[in-house]
Amino acid sequence: TSSTSLHVATDPRKTANSSAGSTPSFPPGDANAWSPSSWKNAVAKQMPVYDDQAELDAAIATLNRVAPLVFAGEVRSLHEKLARVTQGQGFVLMGGDCAESFKEFHVNHIRDTFRVLMQMALVLTFGSAMPVVKIGRMAGQFAKPRSEPNEVIDGVSLPSYRGDNVNREEFTPEARRNNPYLMVDAYYQSAQTLNILRAFSTGGFADIARLHAWNLDFVEGTEESSRYQKLAAKIDESLRFMKAIGIDTSKPEFTSVDFYTAHECLLLPYEQALTRQDSTTGKWYDCSAHMLWVGERTRDLDGAHLEFTRGVGNPLAVKVSDKCTPEELIRIIDTMNPQNVPGKLSIIVRMGADKLRKNLPGLIRAVQREGKAVVWISDPVHGNTRKSETGFKTRDFDNIRAELRAFFDVHDEMGSHPGGVHLEMTGEDVTECTGGVSAVSDETLGTRYNTSCDPRLNGSQALELAFLIAERMRM
Ligand code: PEP
Ligand code: MN
Repeated sequence: TSSTSLHVATDPRKTANSSAGSTPSFPPGDANAWSPSSWKNAVAKQMPVYDDQAELDAAIATLNRVAPLVFAGEVRSLHEKLARVTQGQGFVLMGGDCAESFKEFHVNHIRDTFRVLMQMALVLTFGSAMPVVKIGRMAGQFAKPRSEPNEVIDGVSLPSYRGDNVNREEFTPEARRNNPYLMVDAYYQSAQTLNILRAFSTGGFADIARLHAWNLDFVEGTEESSRYQKLAAKIDESLRFMKAIGIDTSKPEFTSVDFYTAHECLLLPYEQALTRQDSTTGKWYDCSAHMLWVGERTRDLDGAHLEFTRGVGNPLAVKVSDKCTPEELIRIIDTMNPQNVPGKLSIIVRMGADKLRKNLPGLIRAVQREGKAVVWISDPVHGNTRKSETGFKTRDFDNIRAELRAFFDVHDEMGSHPGGVHLEMTGEDVTECTGGVSAVSDETLGTRYNTSCDPRLNGSQALELAFLIAERMRM
């Protein structure tokens, strides 16, 4: 189980779509019947409306024939790792752009984010003395839920930008029209991204012996860079020791990593088209990513997103803010993981520090009372978005740090396992979040503010956060 491999293939001929070929897993007439298209009988929030049905059908017909991006065997290996995290054996690291975009797409962009994630994973493995489950918010993270359906600039109102797989960012009626072919473009970009990620995970780039080669120029000379060097030296020392006693460090355990992908399961026509029946088990898997989560805005109990996700074999997650009551959370868990299978469901908490201290204990108590197996993950960024005095949507490092601290404190008090962290971050030296050693301020936000959606931690801010978490876990 040491390297990402493509062992179990999914039969591409058994594609699922709304019309032909979809076999429900329950007998017809069963009120509980699920099929890849049964979400269409429920209310689908945040779903783009396409004005040309023929165009939509043509795009979906193309997607029904594309190759799966991930494979059932890989999905099951992630599931097993997450199951161990529910027992306190492991820590999940999820990270990547808020929204991937066509304009930022480049092999170097993927390389830089992957590299920082590997550095963070190394720091976290060392700090926690536990396996770290590495998941990129990558290769499919395009669609965005929006709080306003329209955007008004200088009295002109146009549909909101919903991500590069739905419409385009430019403020013109043509760009803001929902174009179903953008789903196909996003698929092909995701396929390229996954191809690069697979090469990086197994092709020597993740070789632990090349640790020093991972250094990023922009952290050079900072205090944290020297802490990282010290850690790298410790690992080097351990490797030399292992070699001396005859352990072969050229084996895959040392040169490759298991790296998984995840994104918000938002754009259901796309997810449905990528949902395929596994030839060995007969189970349905959404082959657009290893793991999928349902966002805070679409997690309604009777909504289309829970209906769709409850039928797929992938590990799932749900985002919860302070608006989620303990009763509601238990009902969500019963819907998304009715058999209470360990590793199937993660709860991603995003509330802001103060609300988290107030609300998380009640959620944990309910989960403990009902005996539910979940992975608790902290998303310390989405509850901390603010507008800078200079007009940018930003987040402050200290607030993110405070929410993480609150997350660990509450789990300590409740005797439960803080199982992971979910971040919006990039390996690049952007100036989108303020604070940290990088010392981005409200005044300098405009220097390299590149995001098409929410602000991301830059490479050094993300690494610094990993150090802080590792230090906390070493205690
Ligand atoms: C996100 O993860 O980008 C997102 C929209 O999060 P949430 O559903 O928690 O608001
Ligand atoms: Mn976001």
